[in-house]
Amino acid sequence: MIVCAIVLAGERVRFDGGFNPQFTDNQMRNSAEATRAGLAKWAATEHGRKLIEFFGAREFEIRVIEDADERGAGRAPQPGLATLVAANDHARPKTYEVILNPTYFKLPAGMAPLPNQPATAADVMAIAWAGEMLHIYFYAQGISLPHHPRSDFQEEWQTVAAELGMPAVRHDDDDALPHAARLRFIGR
Ligand SMILES: [Zn+2]
Repeated sequence: MIVCAIVLAGERVRFDGGFNPQFTDNQMRNSAEATRAGLAKWAATEHGRKLIEFFGAREFEIRVIEDADERGAGRAPQPGLATLVAANDHARPKTYEVILNPTYFKLPAGMAPLPNQPATAADVMAIAWAGEMLHIYFYAQGISLPHHPRSDFQEEWQTVAAELGMPAVRHDDDDALPHAARLRFIGR
């Protein structure tokens, strides 16, 4: 059992030995199905498991905010400088935020999903979890924005996108939303 730093509906998410999230009744009632299904998909990847284990340390807290008005699928705001520079001080608590929009994806009627692309709201949330948690992983190592131009960030992104079965999804900058972790879908 891993108690992860991810806080959904006010409670830390627990994973069993197979990295299946064990949501509480409160979390089932007070979070979106796509958010939970996306988390389970990400947790089934090798990259997701690596990060879930990393964020099992008690110094971290990752508050998940679901917001249907968010303009992208997800966002992970940069924490304050004090949190960034304390990366190697494991006694210092560190809090981060992830904003997810579980209603972001709607496949237009009559359209079929493209190959290697999200086909469901849960797929989009899996992509959002993978991307935003990757940002937080970099923050936790004291690495401030921008992350998108970094080759190490892009390498990790390609790895997890492939593990999710959606290697065509990019994670890079959108001019309209600088530094907001935007997801862009090729062909859309
Ligand atoms: Zn990003």
